[in-house]
Amino acid sequence: EQDVVDYRKSLGIRVSGFDVPRPIKLFEDCGFSSTLMGAIAKQGYERPTSIQCQALPIVLSGQDIIGIAKTGSGKTAAFVLPMVVHIMDQPELRKEEGPIGVICAPTRELAHQIYLEAKKFSKSNGIRVSAVYGGMSKLEQFKELKAGCEIVVATPGRLIDMLKMKALTMLRATFLVLDEADRMFDLGFEPQIRSIVGQIRPDRQTLLFSATMPRKIERLAREILVDPVRVTVGEVG
Ligand code: ADP
Ligand code: MG
Repeated sequence: EQDVVDYRKSLGIRVSGFDVPRPIKLFEDCGFSSTLMGAIAKQGYERPTSIQCQALPIVLSGQDIIGIAKTGSGKTAAFVLPMVVHIMDQPELRKEEGPIGVICAPTRELAHQIYLEAKKFSKSNGIRVSAVYGGMSKLEQFKELKAGCEIVVATPGRLIDMLKMKALTMLRATFLVLDEADRMFDLGFEPQIRSIVGQIRPDRQTLLFSATMPRKIERLAREILVDPVRVTVGEVG
């Protein structure tokens, strides 16, 4: 166990929670399919970043997670890769409707970045990704969602609009990511986040990422995550 403690220290991470898996050292340690390993190699990702080393085995084990790490630490792949695995594990992928993975981000720029990253790891698996945010035609988005997707990346306000228009259902959603939670709160999205979370089945897996962890986000996390493991990278949080 001391070697695990030392390894976490060398990664600059702290963890708390129950049954926290040991951090991995290589992407090869994740049991990813050769298709996914190929997509990772194509990105030029040689080794996992610190947050990825610890978050990947936690999320792959099905646990909820609170990840606290500053911008640029590689959080996107830490949730997108396990999301792809989660989706590929579903039987009868195309039989039902609505996204399996739902990612909420505070701004259209961030949502778009995540969308691009998600597509890189999804395309070769036949997983469809849709982006939903303001500034795009609602009719076009409605049509795209109606055509079906397994992953939706959205800003909270526009996702609510699309749910109201019945462009999609959350019946199949089992993997929820709240990215940059502190910024979503700062932008006043708490009611929308609560509404979205309330429409997703309670036995989902939930991931919350934030650069800071003010009390109001702590409170939300306690309400919507189940026995989360907390991973903090560096001096933030
Ligand atoms: P964050 O969400 O923590 O701000 P990102 O997920 O946007 O960070 O990643 C920051 C940058 O690092 C991106 O350009 C991404 O492509 C790159 N990156 C992520 N993981 C790795 C990795 N394992 N190896 C090399 N580059 C990576
Ligand atoms: Mg990010």
